[in-house]
Amino acid sequence: MPLLIRDNLDRYAILALIGRSGMAMLLAIAGATAMLRAQPPAPDLLLSNGKIITVDERFSIAQAVAIKGDRIVAVGTNQEIAQLAGPNTRRIDLMGRAVIPGLIDNHIHLLRAATTWLRELRFDGVESRAQAIDMLRARAKEAGPGEWVYNIGGWTHQQFADDPKPFTLEELDQIAPNNPVALQESYYQIFLNSRALRALGIEAGAPDPADFVKGSILRDARGRPTGVIQGDIAATRPVAARLPKVAPDQLEASSRALVQEMNRAGLTSFGVPGCNSDVLEIFQKWKAQGRLDARIFCIDGTAAGAPEQVNASLQQIARMKLFQGDPSIDNIFFGESVYQPLHDPMFALKSDPRPDQLELWRRLAMEIAKAGLPLHVHAELRGTIDAFLDQIEAINRQYPIKSLRWTLAHVNQIDAPQLERMKKLGMYAAVHPWAVINGGIMHEGFGDGAYDMPPLRTIQDSGIQWGFGTDGTAANQYRPFTTLYFAVTGKMVGGAKVMRQTIGREDALIAHTRKNAYLVFQEDNLGSIQPGKLADLLVLDRDYLTVPAEQIKSIQPVLTMVGGRIVYDAAHVPAEVR
Ligand SMILES: [Zn+2]
Repeated sequence: MPLLIRDNLDRYAILALIGRSGMAMLLAIAGATAMLRAQPPAPDLLLSNGKIITVDERFSIAQAVAIKGDRIVAVGTNQEIAQLAGPNTRRIDLMGRAVIPGLIDNHIHLLRAATTWLRELRFDGVESRAQAIDMLRARAKEAGPGEWVYNIGGWTHQQFADDPKPFTLEELDQIAPNNPVALQESYYQIFLNSRALRALGIEAGAPDPADFVKGSILRDARGRPTGVIQGDIAATRPVAARLPKVAPDQLEASSRALVQEMNRAGLTSFGVPGCNSDVLEIFQKWKAQGRLDARIFCIDGTAAGAPEQVNASLQQIARMKLFQGDPSIDNIFFGESVYQPLHDPMFALKSDPRPDQLELWRRLAMEIAKAGLPLHVHAELRGTIDAFLDQIEAINRQYPIKSLRWTLAHVNQIDAPQLERMKKLGMYAAVHPWAVINGGIMHEGFGDGAYDMPPLRTIQDSGIQWGFGTDGTAANQYRPFTTLYFAVTGKMVGGAKVMRQTIGREDALIAHTRKNAYLVFQEDNLGSIQPGKLADLLVLDRDYLTVPAEQIKSIQPVLTMVGGRIVYDAAHVPAEVR
């Protein structure tokens, strides 16, 4: 890698000289390659007088960074970096601020989120119920009578520190009498008002609409709907399906607002299960125009949903081609499901996968190994993880998976023996702490066991390569500093302690940067602030390493950079994006 960079720099130097001094100069330097190597061209940009938390292998701290094009070319002391400046080099004085690599979420349903983002009223990170109600009122007014006010996950009422109560029908009627309202808590339940019930065809004395899960529409003793739809993802689906998405001509604006919000939150790269093609097209267009502010690594492939679909899926796997892109947009994994019936439902308490289903799972996964494809697979409950590892050990004897970075995703119930088995197989763990918003629900279901979900310290101590994601934007919130706060304190949004296996803040940051770069096959390009890597970084308003742990969740980037371009600047951002 360093060699490649060096070659690029030399070529650039020669071109620059041609531009400035013409052909004669080129001849003069033809025999002077050594001199060129010693004097690389001046950087475009210097960031100096900061605390650069490089997250390199030694976790070194530097003062300054030099950037040329989209890459970091030097990291060092203020003095060392200042010497590199040329007449056209721009400078940013960090005024002592901390800088970290751009954060990577290894698993977030980002492109799906774009299809609703502009229409959603998000409660991610909102810790006050009174504030949520104010937001509802304001949105209803802004939307106008008859328009839906809704969100699809990313929060639960247990995060409201001032008053952790569900919403009631009467209350939502009073707050927004003229708008249908649907507020979805994670994938657990939805709160509706009267206008929403009418719009969805849910009425007193009438049967439930046919596609709702039996019993999911809660009713009182007299058969009147209470405004609550409850169950799991299957129960929430019929409501989500009826909510208006953003109009096709608004999809680009919605995608833009989403990416701006992610940049503001500190995210620059994403592992994305199920890359929706209509949204991906927009991202491809931005890439061609040089204004793609997010790196998208797709986790794709259609999982068979029933035995009769297995053959089609096997054929799809055999044809699948990954790694046809570059560090802006690429396809990197088959996932996140191999055989749909063995996809653990969120909030299921335990699993005992059936042998006939595991047999099909193994046939499909065997084909994935045979095709030499990386696999990123949803595996949440202990029984499922054990069963998958049994299959993978058998597959590995026939088609070794060692170099394929097979990854188990979510793993909230993983244990030490399973981590050992994974390490032997050369596997990785994509950790998505659902408890960050679902901690209250998980404690109701799992009791004290929820304190070890996920068992972060066990995972860290196992030595396995692992990284953080959220599984946002429905199952979880998306803000990375909230995840880091959870990792260090064990507290969910709102401050309730829900997890006891906390880890140190350095390890947490490594898992959200350098190790995640490995999990998205970008360890040569991303994850740390080092010469040769892409210039994705965040300038923070507070020092992540020294701020009190309680404040980690409220750390904000003041500047976010992707590939050397400033994509978010708190000082210049228009008011509506803040
Ligand atoms: Zn999943």
